[in-house]
Amino acid sequence: MRSLFFIFALSLSLTSHALTDSRVPGGVALIEVTEDEQPRFRDQPVLTVLRDGQHVAVVGIPLSLKPGNYYLETVNRRIPFEVTGKRYLEQRIYLDNTRQVNPNPLDLERIKKEATRQRGVLNAHNGSLDQIELILPVEGPISSPFGKRRFFNDQPRRPHSGTDIAAPIGTPLQAAAAGRIALVGDFFFNGRLVIIDHGEGLKTMYNHMDQIEVSEGDQVSQGQRIGTVGATGRVTGPHLHFGVIINGASVDPALFVDAINRLPGN
Ligand SMILES: [Zn+2]
Repeated sequence: MRSLFFIFALSLSLTSHALTDSRVPGGVALIEVTEDEQPRFRDQPVLTVLRDGQHVAVVGIPLSLKPGNYYLETVNRRIPFEVTGKRYLEQRIYLDNTRQVNPNPLDLERIKKEATRQRGVLNAHNGSLDQIELILPVEGPISSPFGKRRFFNDQPRRPHSGTDIAAPIGTPLQAAAAGRIALVGDFFFNGRLVIIDHGEGLKTMYNHMDQIEVSEGDQVSQGQRIGTVGATGRVTGPHLHFGVIINGASVDPALFVDAINRLPGN
């Protein structure tokens, strides 16, 4: 009964929210599969949803992936698909705190540990997914969209893996969907952060927070307050860095949160 309800809810959310096929780095490929095919992409299990009676794999395509031909692997076949290039805009950020651009050896040790911990959480694939439709964690203008190619003090760094939404320090943040708090931390670059695991490899990430009001292991519901906007970590002003991760890949949150497309500055 419970699984029937989930299937019904998923098909509802996919038809009401147009999750679109976007086969570019940072996008998602929607690929039809049969039940129990257990699709995988680059050694990561891929989440599937039921849409109009058809099982569909929602494949997260990493921003770092080179355009070309790839395969979705299933238990009995390989399904080819093509990833085409996307030219994201460039962003130049200037920071007075040069340690945030060229960290010292002690910082680098810390950054490495944090990256390993974060990677472990983001790659996890546990539990069943309740809903694929996400809500906006906070309202505000977009101060930096997803995917921008970044230069800090003119030095190239990794592209922007989330959407930045500007809001004053202390503005409440809400969970984009129901899930389990998988990580709470205070990281060198990300500042105070929360990662929510929504099941089947779907995660959302909230960086640069001021107050964190949840603990690891807590179950949260969609829209539940998890803390407040801050300016912790590597920032030039208060904002939420909101990330959406599936099968270990950071993808464009605007694909999952329709409301992002209506925020000013996008
Ligand atoms: Zn950001």
